[in-house]
Amino acid sequence: MLSQVVELIESKTSFGITSHVRPDGDSLGSSLGLYWLLRALDKDVEVIMRDPAPHAYQQLPGTDTIRVTPAVDRAYDAVFVIECSDIDRPGLLNLEKQLVVNIDHHSTTELFGAVNWIDPTASAVGEMIYNLCKATGVRVTKEIAECVYTALLTDTGSFHYSNTTERTFKIASELIRTGVKPAKTAEAIFGSYRWPKIELLGQVLATARRDETGHVAWMRQTLEMQEQTHASDEDADGFVNYPLAVGEVEAAALFKEYSAGVYRTSLRSKGDVNVAKIAEKFGGGGHRNAAGCTLKGSWDEIEQQVVPLLQDAVKRANGLKDITEDALLTEGSKQ
Ligand code: 5GP
Ligand code: MN
Repeated sequence: MLSQVVELIESKTSFGITSHVRPDGDSLGSSLGLYWLLRALDKDVEVIMRDPAPHAYQQLPGTDTIRVTPAVDRAYDAVFVIECSDIDRPGLLNLEKQLVVNIDHHSTTELFGAVNWIDPTASAVGEMIYNLCKATGVRVTKEIAECVYTALLTDTGSFHYSNTTERTFKIASELIRTGVKPAKTAEAIFGSYRWPKIELLGQVLATARRDETGHVAWMRQTLEMQEQTHASDEDADGFVNYPLAVGEVEAAALFKEYSAGVYRTSLRSKGDVNVAKIAEKFGGGGHRNAAGCTLKGSWDEIEQQVVPLLQDAVKRANGLKDITEDALLTEGSKQ
């Protein structure tokens, strides 16, 4: 919990910070926010990651200090593991030999740390880093503000998702007062794409299919498309959201061929439709409305595995709605 994290920071000197493979806005923003917090306390600190920061996050203060490494290759007093469901998510060898502090906002995370601070009410881990600033008495500097704002902005889907709360806006407002320029940050992240992304998007959208109900949609991205368009892995970020922009679509999947017969799968949903449960079934994880996993097989096999589960999840969520509506009707008729 928070008080243990504060105590640990006060009692130790050297810290590593890491997060999951293929880092995103929250993992980078929170890791670097914590980096600046610990720097403000004169600690010896470095961020180590298995994968480099995507192009969209190059402007984040401190991105240039991140050391990309396949293993923890020195001793720290403690290593913070940010936004990870388990000890293997960072993809770093020898991590388990360190004193690990697990900081996450996923309710399903394993308690793999010597200290575990989990807050599922936080819209992003960035919100927790902001709270940690308050708890340690560290002033929210421009650097910290920029990092935390990026975490909030990206993990709430630009303040669209159901994890967006009054507290999210309260914190965002303070960060803006500290000097964050929302339009500038949003443009750096969402307005700095490269042309291959557009060509790849065209090809991926052309594969979009939906089931007979119209509630479930899915798309494919082949290795061939990626090679042909000279797109990088990160260029497909966000594609899975396009089908969800259609009114009746409640769940969507993007199957990205990663190597022959291996597919990184992104799942998204609206409202009560829970795709985290589906991702977990295949060894992945995430949030109710945004989750991911890796699948193996042929295109037809993986679609036949996942599409019925998405249909079930939609049915279950709508069933819940019907039950609540029925109950309300019954309540009403009693009066
Ligand atoms: P994305 O589809 O953008 O890759 O991931 C969406 C969400 O699911 C993120 O919160 C991400 O951390 C989580 N996620 C994606 N892939 C995995 C995975 O393989 N394991 C776990 N535990 N979470 C994942
Ligand atoms: Mn997050």
